[in-house]
Amino acid sequence: MSKGVRPTMTTATHEETLGFQTEVKQLLNLMIHSLYSNREIFLRELISNAADACDKLRYAALDNDALYEGDSELRVEIEHDSDAKTVTIRDNGIGMNRDDVVANLGTIAKSGTAEFLNQLSGEQQKDAKLIGQFGVGFYSGFIVADEITVRTRKAGDAADAGVEWRSKGEGEFVVAELEREKHGTEIILHLKDDASEFADDYRLQSLVRKYSDHIEVPVKMPRTEKATDDEGNEVDGSEVTTWETINEATALWVRPKGEVSDDEYKAFYKHVAHDFSDPLAWSHNKVEGNLEYTSLLYVPGRAPFDLYERDGARGVKLYVQRVFIMDDAEQFLPLYLRFIKGVLDTRDLSLNVSRELLQQDPKVDKIKSALTKRALDMLKKLSKDKEAYQSFWNTFGAVLKEGPAEDFANRDKISGLLRFSSTHTDSATQDQSLADYVERMKEGQDKIYYIVADGFNATKNSPHLEIFRKKGIEVLLLHDRIDEWLMSHLTEFDGKKLVDVAKGDLDLGDVENEEEKKAQEETAKAKEDLVKRVKEALGDEVQEVKVTHRLTDSPACVVLPEHEMGFQMRRIMEAAGQSLPEVKPILELNPEHALVARLEAAGDEGFADLARILLDQAIIAEGGHLDDPAAYVKRLNALLSA
Ligand code: ADP
Ligand code: MG
Repeated sequence: MSKGVRPTMTTATHEETLGFQTEVKQLLNLMIHSLYSNREIFLRELISNAADACDKLRYAALDNDALYEGDSELRVEIEHDSDAKTVTIRDNGIGMNRDDVVANLGTIAKSGTAEFLNQLSGEQQKDAKLIGQFGVGFYSGFIVADEITVRTRKAGDAADAGVEWRSKGEGEFVVAELEREKHGTEIILHLKDDASEFADDYRLQSLVRKYSDHIEVPVKMPRTEKATDDEGNEVDGSEVTTWETINEATALWVRPKGEVSDDEYKAFYKHVAHDFSDPLAWSHNKVEGNLEYTSLLYVPGRAPFDLYERDGARGVKLYVQRVFIMDDAEQFLPLYLRFIKGVLDTRDLSLNVSRELLQQDPKVDKIKSALTKRALDMLKKLSKDKEAYQSFWNTFGAVLKEGPAEDFANRDKISGLLRFSSTHTDSATQDQSLADYVERMKEGQDKIYYIVADGFNATKNSPHLEIFRKKGIEVLLLHDRIDEWLMSHLTEFDGKKLVDVAKGDLDLGDVENEEEKKAQEETAKAKEDLVKRVKEALGDEVQEVKVTHRLTDSPACVVLPEHEMGFQMRRIMEAAGQSLPEVKPILELNPEHALVARLEAAGDEGFADLARILLDQAIIAEGGHLDDPAAYVKRLNALLSA
């Protein structure tokens, strides 16, 4: 055999059968069952991948023109064969080599996948939206196909480095070597009997328009006509095929706002965000001048499964002068806005930026602060629609609460977007803004009061609220894990101090009149002896004992000094393995309460036990744990049977 001549391989050789990663099998199972009524989305997913592959080739070719292999007209082609019941999606994008194929079409690389899939309960598994939250991707082909063949070759590789991948979407797939003259990827769906409707010109065209109009690369379908001569007469019955572009094929964000419909914005969102459901809001801006960029940001309708994964995907899709550069460019938005999806296209960066270069470029920070403002403004606008905003808040509120700590400069803007539970409604739904609170403040009230505890009921029923309820002063009920952390970075709103009702001395400002204050002082004086006795009896268990007027129904409560880390935060940090210096609480007694009167009347014998019971109860009411619960029970039982 002479040099340079290779045998022609028309069929795949050196087949090897490999098993899918467990997660893929699970996903396939779930998808096929839950997405039946949405099955047309397979086409969107496969075109989306083909368009991504074209974007990637264009980017790689910036450095190396030869990768185009003489065919720089990037495109996606869709063909069908109604007799064979196949639909083929083909692109001349970047293509894949064998390792790519095995990794991309045999595993799911997203971290947290296994946990997510295992957590779905039987009922949830039927919920299309939950699967959509995961992003269905390539494997969605198996909703309509009982076998998929992929033929691909990476741009720049030799013709015999092609790969064939075949699978019935059950436990395994086959990979083989293939001679493939052209680079790029071809996906052949062998349709299930009940999905043969998709092997139809009209159906495919309308799906392309519905889902992929906004894709920048042209999506083409063949039209076969009888050949005609210049006068339009048929020529000897022969046929010619022309490839007709079906979609709009201009980058959506480049088009003027007024010319893009809501449906187009929504469809584009699904492509960039790899999401299945509609976005809640979007903001499309073109900026010229000092910075030059176009951004199209979206607020998703639901949280991605990896919102709290450390290395979960986040950030925008970055383009430089319309050339795709990278997915998930996380440098352009702060972490607390990591749920925002979208596109940034700028002239301010060079085409050869890399993730490393982005970290050093001062223009990146400028664009970041501009996009942050855009995103916050978009949320503010969304907040005018109460129902939509509530849905946003329930989904992403806990993430936005990271904002005041991370972004000092925008603290005021973020504060305005926060929502809390409150004694105004006594509902666990976080739907009250700080502005709502301020509007309802009582005459003479100059502070915003809040309580933090582990769980809604612990806040709502806390003894600390008794005086506030009696006086009709509203208190915000903070029951998210992150709340104490949030409040340690949020000290003021609208010129009013935010005050934790479980810390420091109670100060109701001018809501209490002089007479009341005087009466309190007198009570304190009258109870000095009692306070001293209790302190002696409890010793080191408490830092101080006081009488209080913050209680009406409970005999006692514990408070912390004003600048001390709160109980809730302590418990979180201790659970995370941090050792913290011990703080002793201040015990406050309600002088009006019968149990306190009983304590005062007790002789030396029962006094210490009763004092200890009051302290332990107060700790329990706070959500705290007793060091020696059995001793508490014993004392209480003794008291009950006395
Ligand atoms: P995603 O698009 O969210 O990454 P998919 O399941 O849709 O997930 O695709 C998995 C991966 O397979 C892609 O990230 C890509 O690397 C690869 N892939 C899929 N389709 C193509 C294609 N037409 N050309 C090149 N690579 C592809
Ligand atoms: Mg995809």
